[in-house]
Amino acid sequence: SEDVLRVEGLSTRFFTGEGQVNAVEDVSFRVREGEVFGIVGESGSGKSVTGLSLVDLVESPGEVTSGKLWYRDAELAADLQQEFPAAVDGDYVDLRGVPEAVRTSLRGTSFSMIFQDPESSFNPSLTVGEQIAEAVEVQQRASSRPRSTRARTDSSEYSLGSLILSFALPSRRYISEESRERAVELLEMVGIPDPVERADEYPHEYSGGMLQRAMIAQALAGEPDVLVADEPTTALDVTIQAQVLDLLSDLQKETGMTVLIITHNLGVIARMCDRVGVMYAGEIVERGSLADVFRDNVHPYTAGLLGSVPDLESVGGSLDPVPGNVPSLLDHEMADRCYFADRCPKAMEACLERPHPRAVDDDGDHLVNCVLGEVSYGDSPPLPDEYFDDDG
Ligand code: SF4
Ligand code: MG
Repeated sequence: SEDVLRVEGLSTRFFTGEGQVNAVEDVSFRVREGEVFGIVGESGSGKSVTGLSLVDLVESPGEVTSGKLWYRDAELAADLQQEFPAAVDGDYVDLRGVPEAVRTSLRGTSFSMIFQDPESSFNPSLTVGEQIAEAVEVQQRASSRPRSTRARTDSSEYSLGSLILSFALPSRRYISEESRERAVELLEMVGIPDPVERADEYPHEYSGGMLQRAMIAQALAGEPDVLVADEPTTALDVTIQAQVLDLLSDLQKETGMTVLIITHNLGVIARMCDRVGVMYAGEIVERGSLADVFRDNVHPYTAGLLGSVPDLESVGGSLDPVPGNVPSLLDHEMADRCYFADRCPKAMEACLERPHPRAVDDDGDHLVNCVLGEVSYGDSPPLPDEYFDDDG
């Protein structure tokens, strides 16, 4: 199937007191319509910031500083063609090349995001049903107007919606009976028992797993094309994790939506994903199909990660990473060489030139940032000790 999203050269920086942090560094990947794409990495690898960058939720002092986010939407492309020709290419719109109001108008209906911590996504003083019904109404108001008009309207109304900014939700406003019914349907769809009764309960009356399901219901209120899920099950115990993952899988198949899962858990990737990108130090260092990455991997970091997990069938299996630390992402401390060199068992002098993505299969879908394959281990002198991480 076709790509729904083409990310090209995405970089996101944080401008902190200690200097510029390159959280996401020149990242490119494509997500196909209707697939489950996984981004896996250790904490601090930049995977969450990548997700936030896609949905335009990076907050100050962070900023997406470069790159293109091509999103396929023929109707939107036609709407914007005249005014923003440089941001339109066929059926694709570069979301970074259009006003913020356009991006905001896509929230909930085109993109939706769920997080690890459902408590932060609900207002404790409103019932779960009210909040989901509110998300339904915001999405209906948003999609009842032509998008080109929406794009020019004040964006504040659309910053609500199922993008789950809970405390921005207005206190009780009139909610139609239809929206309440739809909220109950959504709760039923995500497997909440007795949804009519549970809709009238408050978030604290839900268990963690149930609240996670309710958050998914809220995120689906606008029938998004792409659901970004950042560590969607990490806070749950293992049995419940598996149930919520199965639910996401079933919903994906039923609706045909595209799901982008961000996780440190390779078991989650193995269970859910069609294609996967492995992140390290702000870069995607290897990406391809599940088989490319799990079986035919080339990058020593990927191999190290997989070797560190005893049982991929278990979604509870934790990542016991490769020895050493993810390098500082402070710009002035980042060397212009392979970022993995100080932890890599195969580091060579050839690795002192920074590797860029290179196809290692015929169809060009399996890409690695590593010299191996071009240079065989042993053909280039080993790296002197001074290059290695002291802790590694
Ligand atoms: Fe290891 Fe060199 Fe490949 Fe980097 S480029 S991962 S140091 S072999
Ligand atoms: Mg994270």
